[in-house]
Amino acid sequence: MRRICYFVLCLIMILNCFIPAFAVETGLRKVVVLDPGHGGDDPGAEGNGFFEKDLNWDITNFCKAELEKFGITVFLSREEGENPSLSARAKVAKEKDADVLVSIHNNSFTNNTAKGTEVYHSVKSSKRFYNLAEDVLDNFVSDMGTTSRGVKTRYGSSGTDDYYGIIRNCDRPAILVECVFISNPNDVSKIADAKGREKAGKAIAHGILEQYGIDWTIEPTSEITTETTKETTTETTGEITDEITEENIAKEMTFEDLTTENWYYPYVQKVFEKGLIKGYFENGKWLLKPENNATRIESVIFVLKHLGINEKDFSEFEVSFEDFSENQKWAENYIKAAYKLGIMKGEMRDDKLYLNGDKGITRGEFFAMMARALMISDNDESYDESYKEIDFSKFSDKEEMKKLPWFESEFKYLIYNNIVEGSDGRFEPNNNIKRCEIIKMLAVS
Ligand SMILES: [Zn+2]
Repeated sequence: MRRICYFVLCLIMILNCFIPAFAVETGLRKVVVLDPGHGGDDPGAEGNGFFEKDLNWDITNFCKAELEKFGITVFLSREEGENPSLSARAKVAKEKDADVLVSIHNNSFTNNTAKGTEVYHSVKSSKRFYNLAEDVLDNFVSDMGTTSRGVKTRYGSSGTDDYYGIIRNCDRPAILVECVFISNPNDVSKIADAKGREKAGKAIAHGILEQYGIDWTIEPTSEITTETTKETTTETTGEITDEITEENIAKEMTFEDLTTENWYYPYVQKVFEKGLIKGYFENGKWLLKPENNATRIESVIFVLKHLGINEKDFSEFEVSFEDFSENQKWAENYIKAAYKLGIMKGEMRDDKLYLNGDKGITRGEFFAMMARALMISDNDESYDESYKEIDFSKFSDKEEMKKLPWFESEFKYLIYNNIVEGSDGRFEPNNNIKRCEIIKMLAVS
């Protein structure tokens, strides 16, 4: 149990490094730019008799009203009926020195069954806004009763920068909310009238307010005056394409060695629903083997998810491992992403590349992988090298750690960035991570 607690602690610390730099001191001006997607000659997605631009406009304005009620200064990136370029929209955030830009869109797909809400933040660690994206998503999903498609990032064709132009062009944190699927009659019915759009706008506002530490459940007593300026811009280049990735295929969760009594049962449920765990089929039965060591594939998925990497962006990439097997197919895109990003390099033996995907992973290896991933995502900034000065003196098993030279630099990096702390005095780099521990981390991340 002690180790599990440690992992929760680690996880909290990992999450902490994504906490946004919102101005939280009292008395500071709080400024948000809202970007109603599309507009004017660009209707955005169409479906079930709705144009995306109209839905986006209404939801944005309800969101604005709610934020203003709580003393936030809100600017819009465009006027009604206009369609400025994405860079012009992003520039409003800079000019107004906003804390964040929130772009509001609705999704669409070629079939009418795709559904749910997703929120994108930047692939760049300096602009990453995981907590805001998550707060907005959680509020939206619970208030509107939509399906959560998760907090996501998406790489553009450059492979190093954001896919979404509004996020890419913004010089500060920006998130993009895809509220519902216009192409899905049930989804779009939730925002078919003003009441629904108001609820949607408020839900997004509540997620933003939570990031400011404002309790929106308490009605503000006095009227707060705020600036209400709209930006007028007329450039008309740039576009946002609303594309979605295929949905997870639902399977049945029937593991012989899992009961509702297990502490990790709810986590297994969650992770299974996301399609992130596969059992073992043996003698006609499905087994979970929760006490077994976590595999390399499971660990890699955790790291990629933590970084908000969209594994489907890597589906075109080719890599062939000698030992890649049919039962690892479900994780293929994650494996490709991890290899392409240098998080998982594989093992060369007799000129052949091996994945060792179903083999266990030690805590040392796991955290090294995590550090490598974070270092890669920091690469576009001139991150300072002073982490190399860190020593391991906090840890009672520091001698053990020093024996792992491949681990030293990575681990120093994690300590330097306050991602891991040796609060229990031991790091135990040579112990393995169990499947149930990774499952919990995957479920809560
Ligand atoms: Zn859109």
